[in-house]
Amino acid sequence: MTAPLFRAVVLTLFPEMFPGPLGMSLAGKALADGIWSLEALDIRGFARDKHRSVDDTPMGGGPGMVMRPDVLAAALDSATTQVGPDVPRVYLSPRGRRFDQAMAQRWAAAGGVVLVCGRFEGVDERVIEARGLEEVSLGDFVLAGGEIAAMACLEAVVRLLPGVMGEAASLAEESFAAGLLEYPQYTKPRVWEGREVPEVLVSGHHGAIAAWRRGEAERITRARRPDLWEGYAARSRG
Ligand code: SAH
Repeated sequence: MTAPLFRAVVLTLFPEMFPGPLGMSLAGKALADGIWSLEALDIRGFARDKHRSVDDTPMGGGPGMVMRPDVLAAALDSATTQVGPDVPRVYLSPRGRRFDQAMAQRWAAAGGVVLVCGRFEGVDERVIEARGLEEVSLGDFVLAGGEIAAMACLEAVVRLLPGVMGEAASLAEESFAAGLLEYPQYTKPRVWEGREVPEVLVSGHHGAIAAWRRGEAERITRARRPDLWEGYAARSRG
């Protein structure tokens, strides 16, 4: 078998959570086909004391526990020897830059990623600095751990890999690809609960359909995401 196009190493205290949902459907089939690989590395396996402790109380006091830098760094260094130094190394964190489609494309192109999942109050700041971890957030809310965030990011990346989606054309048209949200989709039946599919979509006129879809994508983006719209409009003006 040829080497996978994308290699993910996830550092976690709960390796049994993986592949989880990533073992199903599109991502699961691609994993089974060897298009990408996934290793869940147990951080606890790098603990050195007799209790195999991975966390300790926060310096300066306060609630909860903090993940130790020495244990995490040992796990990270092991992951780096597996995937090489050139792939992004990321700590999933609510303080990070918001994950988006452009980041998914960048990771896919890099051929791999190392993802650190925090638990408790998070990780010792020094390991983020010392290993140059990029902080990436799933959104402005707090999860109990980085695992579900890691899965969400990986699913977004894997569907971009060549051979994963049936039709490459559907990637080019979907939300964010052109800086717009997607146009509305319809299928059969043509009339449902008295609601008809827009006439143009059954006209068979490809030019008119494309123009309608573009117009709808613009209308929806402008109404729902002024931030995206501004960028799109600026680029259209050239
Ligand atoms: N005390 C931290 C939150 C810790 S939550 C703070 O206030 O910033 C525990 C772990 O869950 C974090 O270490 C992180 O890995 C993960 N996590 C929580 N929210 C997240 C989010 N929005 N995006 C990505 N990871 C998140």
